[in-house]
Amino acid sequence: MVEKNTFDTIIIGAGIGGLTTGNLLAKNDQNVLILEKYSLVGGYVTTYKRKKYPMDVVHVIGGLRNDAPINRIFRYHNLYSKVQVIEVEKVFVYRFPGYDISCYTDMEKYGAELKDNFPEEKKNIDSFLAEMTGMWGQILASYYNPSILKLAAYPIRFPKLVKHQHWSFEKFLDQFTTNHELKKVLSAGWGYNGLNMPRVSAIYMIAMLMSYHTGGAWYPKGRFQNLSNAFAENFKEYGGTIKTSTEVEKIIIKDKTAVGVVTNKGEEFFSKNVVSNSDTKNSFLNLVEREFVPDKVHQKVRNYKQSVSGFVVHLVVDMEIPESLSCGCVMYFPSFDTEDHQFSLWEKREIELDANTMGLGMAVSTFKDKEMVPDGKHVLDLIYMPAPYEYFKKDTKEEYKKLKEDISERMIKATENLIPDLGKHVIVKDVSTPLTYERYTGATEGGWYDIECSPNQAILGRIRNKTPIPGLYLTGAKTFPGSGMFGSSQAGLFTADSILQGRLTRGKGMLKR
Ligand SMILES: Cc1cc2nc3c(=O)[nH]c(=O)nc-3n(C[C@H](O)[C@H](O)[C@H](O)COP(=O)(O)OP(=O)(O)OC[C@H]3O[C@@H](n4cnc5c(N)ncnc54)[C@H](O)[C@@H]3O)c2cc1C
Repeated sequence: MVEKNTFDTIIIGAGIGGLTTGNLLAKNDQNVLILEKYSLVGGYVTTYKRKKYPMDVVHVIGGLRNDAPINRIFRYHNLYSKVQVIEVEKVFVYRFPGYDISCYTDMEKYGAELKDNFPEEKKNIDSFLAEMTGMWGQILASYYNPSILKLAAYPIRFPKLVKHQHWSFEKFLDQFTTNHELKKVLSAGWGYNGLNMPRVSAIYMIAMLMSYHTGGAWYPKGRFQNLSNAFAENFKEYGGTIKTSTEVEKIIIKDKTAVGVVTNKGEEFFSKNVVSNSDTKNSFLNLVEREFVPDKVHQKVRNYKQSVSGFVVHLVVDMEIPESLSCGCVMYFPSFDTEDHQFSLWEKREIELDANTMGLGMAVSTFKDKEMVPDGKHVLDLIYMPAPYEYFKKDTKEEYKKLKEDISERMIKATENLIPDLGKHVIVKDVSTPLTYERYTGATEGGWYDIECSPNQAILGRIRNKTPIPGLYLTGAKTFPGSGMFGSSQAGLFTADSILQGRLTRGKGMLKR
């Protein structure tokens, strides 16, 4: 007889990675328990309410078109019977001085848009897009957990991956053009990896862009929470158990093997496999006692640089917003060096305070689903990156509140460069800082993408799905392949596949048909 508190697999955290792994295991006859510290499932893929209005944390998910990787996962679980998705034609709109460029998910249309704006760069643009397409093919065809033998064959089978594995996106772009403005435009979606062109992994930028160009950009009808809820409901239908508002405080290790967890309520649960969807640093530096973490792993995790966080102003406004800004997320740069300047401030643990020179992102949920708010108002968020964690650590609640108020007003002012008079039409405002993200998901310093997406920490630089501690796995942005909803769902697949010994993918980059 199976004990009430014994499972095949326990998953710590119901982020998109935890939910993906849980669903795949439960569908394949495992008895699975998911423990989530927050009251809602989804991790960052959640929506909260302020004065009856839904406020999304995330903006658009890639990879749901035709045979794209995440669509395979959705179809496998018949998730479309629980959540409707709406396709967004332009994943990004890039606003630079003198340029207003739509990043269509359709690559031909995007290419044409780029060539209209940079006619002298036509050939270079074609070469750039062709190389990204070639890279994407190799990313999907490669193995998620290559053996040493398979790795030895990588230079022949996957030469583009081997060549670019430690490259920054800037180095990648340098192969095609020396045009500074074009390079800034091509890398303008950097916020979705949290690092600008010279710092971010080339492969991560290409994977993020190609997930949208090949798989489309999508919004779950009603709000993003509906997507996470669909996963959770499905998981329960497979017989899985989810306990929300339950934090795991410790992973139990016996004979050097992970065998269970202890929660903040003092309950103990046991399993053959423990999967952590919690922060990499939290998993290895807090949840597992020091004596059980191999020295090499401990040192590696301690040395990891955490990804940046952001400052976000969620708004409801009673005004029209120009249709030209309708997309997944607008990236606004008042100059071609905006983000370099913002990163140099971040290194000094400061942020841009001048509304005239501040760059930001803007995501309007009500453009993606025009029916989500019945009274014709717009729900949107303004995003400042990178926001240093320490900057928001204040001695008193009053100081913290004042800082939030001051910066949010400056951001609204900066956004008036896109939407004149925005500030006069705000009817609801809610602000999130790095401390907010830390509080809700437990992410160290409120990091948005787990550890930083730099070339050395990307792909094989992350701890593998099956960790060096027997019985312990990672899932989501914490492991291979990486962050974003696309990367985290793929990680969810690879982790489930490791546990099921290759039944789902045969070691490859996609769920088998
Ligand atoms: C503001 C913002 C906007 C974003 N926009 C986009 C976007 O538009 N498109 C995109 O693709 N990506 C976006 N991302 C990134 C994307 O949301 C994340 O990379 C992805 O959702 C991470 O998924 P995950 O599986 O790693 O889990 P996470 O979302 O990190 O969730 C981890 C879960 O584990 C729980 N947990 C942690 N510790 C414990 C514990 N000890 N016990 C129990 N539970 C625990 C947490 O509460 C949380 O629910 C955005 C991120 C942010 C912050």
